[in-house]
Amino acid sequence: MSLLQGKVAIITGGNSGIGKATAALFAREGAQVVITGRRQDVLDTAVRDIGNGSIGICGDVGVLAFNKRLADEVRDRFGAVDIYMANAGVINLSRSEEVTEEDYDKHFSINTRGVFFGVQTIAPLIREGGTIIATSSLAATKVLQQHTVYAGSKAALAAFARNWALEFKDRRIRVNVLTPGPVETEILGKLGVSEADRPAFDSHMANLIPAGRMGRPEELAEAALFLAAKGSFVNGTELMVDGGMSLS
Ligand code: NAD
Repeated sequence: MSLLQGKVAIITGGNSGIGKATAALFAREGAQVVITGRRQDVLDTAVRDIGNGSIGICGDVGVLAFNKRLADEVRDRFGAVDIYMANAGVINLSRSEEVTEEDYDKHFSINTRGVFFGVQTIAPLIREGGTIIATSSLAATKVLQQHTVYAGSKAALAAFARNWALEFKDRRIRVNVLTPGPVETEILGKLGVSEADRPAFDSHMANLIPAGRMGRPEELAEAALFLAAKGSFVNGTELMVDGGMSLS
């Protein structure tokens, strides 16, 4: 039986990587999927790839007006939402002394503010018994070189989730954090690591992971499906999907 038949799921940053793999899996499990992303052409391609009646809504999750437009469009088309996955995120590695105000504000605008105001705006649309998933990062709890600002921007999500889990308890909305370790997605090309240094960077990462390799987006999608459809007693917590990297 399909696990998400009749459910409406919004996935921010659903046009690539972990978000896209999750959108595709949720759609195969019967959900009406709504993805967001910043670039209309990439969003259109993702909607075609995901199929199953999925739709794309283009905009910046760091902008409150976009979240309101997203809520309005989803309310008009589908009436309510069952799953909100606040997944959009950015990273740019740099040493703290090199971080500019723009770098700092970009990380916190998308990774932190975008999650907070996304949930604030979409939560009223979430049906009783629905669920919220915020994509964090292993970097929020494990020290990794040049990740300081990114780590700070992601660390807030576990605190948000714990508070929301209690705030929304009367509507039985569960709120959890999905925490990936390194996963082979386009974000790895945006870290600020040069093409020439990438093989060394990738093998350094793989060596830190007991699994001996990076994760695949589909493996994170399976974990998101667990939180959305199976984990009915899992609330206010963090699911680490990192191949054991937190242990090293
Ligand atoms: P990705 O680059 O493929 O996906 C990021 C998505 O976020 C893209 O769809 C992009 O369009 C979207 N996005 C970025 N800024 C946005 C904005 N302002 N408004 C709307 N959408 C925006 O990378 P990914 O690895 O799939 O990342 C998904 C999430 O997983 C991110 O939150 C990332 O921080 C987190 N994460 C990834 C890894 C990894 O190694 N890939 C590890 C830990 C955490």
